[in-house]
Formats: sequence, C-alpha cells, structure tokens
Amino acid sequence: MMNGICAMGKVDVLGTEYTIEVKKYDEDESFDKNSFCGYCDEEMKKIVLCDMTTYPGFDGESEEKARISERQTLRHEMVHAFFNESGLSYSSNAYSRGWAKNEEMVDWIAIQGPKIFKAWQEVGAV
Ligand SMILES: [Zn+2]
Repeated sequence: MMNGICAMGKVDVLGTEYTIEVKKYDEDESFDKNSFCGYCDEEMKKIVLCDMTTYPGFDGESEEKARISERQTLRHEMVHAFFNESGLSYSSNAYSRGWAKNEEMVDWIAIQGPKIFKAWQEVGAV
C-alpha cells in the first residue's frame, strides 16, 4: 500500500496493545451494516479500517485520497481507543449519548491532533 497503514499493525494505547487491521469492504460486514469506514472494538482491543479503494462510493477517487482518508479514520479510531483506555467510555453517558462518544469531538481531535502535535513540537512542549 502506497503511504498506507500497515495491514496488520499494533499500537500501544496507554499500556494496552490494540491491533490495527485493514480489511477490504467485503471482508467485514460491519462496514456495510453500520456504514462505517472504520471502527474501534473496545472489547477486542482492535481497530479495523476499511481499505478505502474497496469502499462503495469511493471508486473513482485516487489511491492517495483513499490513503489520506484511512489515516484520518485511524486517528479518529485511536482517539476512541485512548478514551476507552482512560475509562472514558460508557460510564460517560449523559443525555442522549455520552460526551466521550460524541463523534464531533472525536473528529475534532482526529483532525486537529497532527496540527496540535506539530505546534507542541515547534515549541518544545513534547
Ligand atoms: Zn467515532
């Protein structure tokens, strides 16, 4: 995979090892059932990403765009993993959905995270 994510990687999430799997759309029914292009399985400690070149509706897009989308999804799912391993999971339930399950907030961190990290690096804060 060009600039892609390791097909079978591992990541340390606050001391808990999560596996990262990249599957084709047809290899995991969750993609179709839930309209997911990735998910974080808290119980199985794994993150599953769809190979976006196999995702319906993504055909015609460049491989580069597919890989960018996969990396963004990976960051998003890793934020879920960090919340989960912090104990910020179902017990965060408030009204309707808990704040730690708030997709908008998770997206915000997944999108802004690299920029924040770069800024931290620039000022020697990490
Ligand atoms: Zn999410």
